[in-house]
Amino acid sequence: MINTHHHFFHSFERNRAALDWTKLTLIEWLDLIYPIFARLTEECFYHASLTAMAELIKHGCTTAMDHQYCFPRRAGTRLIDRQFEAAALLGLRFHAARGGNTLPKSEGSTIPEEMLETTDAFIADCERVIDAYHDPGPFSLRQVVVAPCQPVNCYKETLVQSVALARGKGVVLHTHAGEGESAVMEARSGQRTVAYLEDLGFAGRDTFYAHCWELTPDELSRLAATGTGVAHCPEPVYLVGAEITDIPAMDSLGVRLSLGVDGAASNDNSNLMHCIHSAYMLQCLVAKTRKHPVPAPATFLDYATKGGASALCRDDIGRLAPGMAADLFAIDTRRMDYVGTRHDPLSLIAKVGIGSPTDLTMINGQIVWADGAFTRADERDLFDKAEQALAKLDP
Ligand SMILES: [Zn+2]
Repeated sequence: MINTHHHFFHSFERNRAALDWTKLTLIEWLDLIYPIFARLTEECFYHASLTAMAELIKHGCTTAMDHQYCFPRRAGTRLIDRQFEAAALLGLRFHAARGGNTLPKSEGSTIPEEMLETTDAFIADCERVIDAYHDPGPFSLRQVVVAPCQPVNCYKETLVQSVALARGKGVVLHTHAGEGESAVMEARSGQRTVAYLEDLGFAGRDTFYAHCWELTPDELSRLAATGTGVAHCPEPVYLVGAEITDIPAMDSLGVRLSLGVDGAASNDNSNLMHCIHSAYMLQCLVAKTRKHPVPAPATFLDYATKGGASALCRDDIGRLAPGMAADLFAIDTRRMDYVGTRHDPLSLIAKVGIGSPTDLTMINGQIVWADGAFTRADERDLFDKAEQALAKLDP
């Protein structure tokens, strides 16, 4: 399984009583969360990444893309490097989406000064991490994605230069779009986000956007026409109370769909198995109000496998077949939890849900998790070190 949208560092901000989406506006939430982000150190980013990666692997995820957009100055310049280090420790196939924000609050963004970068610094570091880590070869375990955080928090120039860099280097492009900012973009630029990005050259088969829940039918058609993909993140829809993404419409148009758990600040877990179940159930909730039928439960597993591979422009992962990377997970269904569920194994995850970790997760032919333990690291040791790093974060 392939997770296509996450913010690993959010794992250190989850399950906090003060951060209650049901009582806060977005701006109030941002005002509470950014001071926490600004205190994060390099060690926090490293251990938060290990925390998210570990949970993903335990629940069957074999490839993950992380959209790391937070670079507080006190955390230094090696955050992506430490993420690759964390992925190598656990054996995860990792795509680092180098994010960034350039537009100051004084010009309409929501980003505090200590988290801003210049376009030049952002592009230079994207180029550095591509040159240092991006491996385009078969079965690659390390790739880089150019991913300015979101159009509403970046100068146009940042987006234009991101497109030029990504196309020049042959890497994937990613950003947030259609998650409540389209009207702001229209007021500011005269165009809603999807049209704005397309005019800058951002759309294409090497691009995918996170969320897209507020897109109009015309905008969905533009995604299909340009081949632009979507990382659908169902669990923030519950927590933030957003509109329910019209997955049947996207599917019927042939939009390339993948699934993301999203950051733990708007989804308090990093469990892609759970996310498949949520995505399916959420569509069932509104099925009678939709023009198109809900895709079959097994299709939601496809989004998390073949769809993820398509989003990341990979033809060597996402399917079990000769010649593909040996990435898989296994669940022993000879348990009371699964009595009566054998009729339709492909629908099991979406329809029934899997409540416990896998029995085995294999990545690139290596067993990285089996029988309740990581094979390359001691879970208790990982836990203790993560909690120590987290304890230093809270004043
Ligand atoms: Zn996100």
